[in-house]
Amino acid sequence: MWDIIIIGAGPAGMTAAIYARRAAKSVLVLEALSYGGQIINTPDIENYPVAAHISGFDFATKVYEQAKALGAEFKFEKAVAIEDGGEEKTVRTAKNAYTGKAVIIATGSENRKLGVENEDKLVGRGISYCATCDGAFYRGKTVAVVGGGNTALEDALYLADLAEKVYLIHRRDEFRAEAATVERVKLRDNVELVLNSVVKSLIADKKLTAVEVVNKQGETRTIEVNGLFVAVGRIPENQNFAQVIALDSAGYALSGENCHTDTPGVFVAGDNRVKEVRQLVTATADGAVAATEAIKYLNQ
Ligand code: NAP
Repeated sequence: MWDIIIIGAGPAGMTAAIYARRAAKSVLVLEALSYGGQIINTPDIENYPVAAHISGFDFATKVYEQAKALGAEFKFEKAVAIEDGGEEKTVRTAKNAYTGKAVIIATGSENRKLGVENEDKLVGRGISYCATCDGAFYRGKTVAVVGGGNTALEDALYLADLAEKVYLIHRRDEFRAEAATVERVKLRDNVELVLNSVVKSLIADKKLTAVEVVNKQGETRTIEVNGLFVAVGRIPENQNFAQVIALDSAGYALSGENCHTDTPGVFVAGDNRVKEVRQLVTATADGAVAATEAIKYLNQ
């Protein structure tokens, strides 16, 4: 029986492990893939206090080593279900079942992909899912953003301040984003709207050089770009836990800033919960909050 089982070894989960171990709670971290979560794909982190530059891999490795040194145990197994037995909760993986007194779900969310050929291969070589993380690499260059929601429009505004030219590619001629944001985008001289269009293919040698888009009339256009920012929504990784925690219509765990869920003893931390700002620093903050709340729950 573990005091706290943490599902997910991203920045939120590993920070929760550090806080829980420092309170002398026994901690098991279950991770489906490898430690680090999304941040491991970021070539250069420039917006986390302490280091002006650190790669996502180095950052994640340092946090992982810190949690391990404090005595957190990691098992690389995907959690597929939680059974709430009140004071005893069971987390099932494909092969094993682990019991804990409290559970923190820190599974994050994954970027919805465009689904075009070579998209995965070009991540970090022209394709990005995070303008605030990677936008600075495209200072003075030409980029495109795909999507029509708040993220895409805000990304376009953010990139318009850095890049020489921004194409905003959207599959309809109306945006889902707030009208005020849309108006601000339309006022930018260096943003060109490419509407009723979808990205058909990516053109690259070692790095992305252009995107081919096709519009509703079936006309194809090749747009030369150095970077493509994909902002077509995110998919929170809560599907396996819907029987234990309440989710909103988009699949995010319903939780406030205290990281509680509607099930006592089950907490949520990081990108898979309802929140405004999804950044590395807010994920680690959630890890600290969720662990602190779990510790309070255990000490009750
Ligand atoms: P979103 O609102 O779900 O928008 C996703 C956009 O991507 C939509 O315009 C959608 O087109 C498009 N799309 C989806 N799949 C696509 C595909 N396969 N190919 C091309 N286009 C595709 O996602 P989001 O912008 O990431 O925002 C998520 C939530 O966070 C929203 O509730 C949003 O309001 C909120 N948010 C708020 C703020 C803020 O308040 N400042 C900032 C960012 C995000 P259609 O429109 O045609 O469906």
